Amino acid sequence: MNSLIQKIKDAQRVNFDEALKLYELDLFTLGSLANSIRVKRWGKNSFFNINRHINPTNVCKDICKFCAFSASRKNPNLYTMNHDEILDIVKESEKRGVKEVHIVSAHNPDTGLSWYLDIFSKIKDKFPHIHIKALTAAEINFLACEYNHSYEEIIDMMIESGVDSMPGGGAEIFDEEVRDKICKGKVTSDEWIEIHRLWHKRGRHSNATMLFGHIEERKDRIDHMMRLRNLQDETDGFNAFIPLVYQRENNFLNVKNFLSSSEILKTMAISRIVLDNIPHLKAYWVTSTMNLSLVSQEFGADDLDGTIEKESINSAAGAKSAKGVGLNEFVSLIKNSGFKPIERDSLYNEIKAW
Ligand code: SF4
Repeated sequence: MNSLIQKIKDAQRVNFDEALKLYELDLFTLGSLANSIRVKRWGKNSFFNINRHINPTNVCKDICKFCAFSASRKNPNLYTMNHDEILDIVKESEKRGVKEVHIVSAHNPDTGLSWYLDIFSKIKDKFPHIHIKALTAAEINFLACEYNHSYEEIIDMMIESGVDSMPGGGAEIFDEEVRDKICKGKVTSDEWIEIHRLWHKRGRHSNATMLFGHIEERKDRIDHMMRLRNLQDETDGFNAFIPLVYQRENNFLNVKNFLSSSEILKTMAISRIVLDNIPHLKAYWVTSTMNLSLVSQEFGADDLDGTIEKESINSAAGAKSAKGVGLNEFVSLIKNSGFKPIERDSLYNEIKAW
């Protein structure tokens, strides 16, 4: 173990077996290794943005077992917003200083392709300075299959409509066996990777997520990280890695044992070590709680996402902290935890040091 610790201190890349072995380290040694990488890159800066999540429909033709958001599962409250409703949300958010809208939907086969795409040009027309982060690789795969387009064609339409960057959702866990059990039928791992590759080839950026804490094993998490690291070596298009903690309520996965906080923190720290080519590690407070996200800053995380305002996907699955947080409170929380709150834009350019 000592030689592995030294290897990390020397900033050498770890392989699959070494990454897996890191789980055997005690939490604080692991945290300190990840923290030293974070401090070398970002000092005590903790990034966030002022953003608004919008989930325009929960009608979905897919049936992911972990999902509590889709109306076709346990949630009987089906909805689909029209474009005016979405524009009203953006207008109100803009008044409150929101600089990014993060738009992610379920896979609704009844709306037509233009419902998905035209909203972006409408937002850009009215609010040209707002960054649009929209359409996960899972949604792109759905739109391509449903409307008989190639991924390239959908990506070109997104760019033409004004989408600036892609969120990292739909990655879940790449291991095919686990993926078959939790979200069979949705975008495959290879397709997810290919869609991000194509997006990056257009000179665009995206994020990458990993859903963990359900039926996957530690080795599956490392495998997931390795596949992302390989793509990043090739394209350099990912801005941030976002480990998402599985939420256990209102879904059909029936996971009995919930992850301990120390396992969550170890996974954060290991991802900071393994993903040496992805600049930012995000502690997404909606799924890990605000408190644990603040602690994650000591375990490699340098980004706390944003104020979010309203989130529907994880709150449907029981996330207790999914309702947004005020800007002043957010800034105080970061400061009181000993870090420097840096407001950023969606591509990590600094806007203001608070
Ligand atoms: S996770 Fe997404 S694709 Fe899967 S059922 Fe839920 S809304 Fe549909």
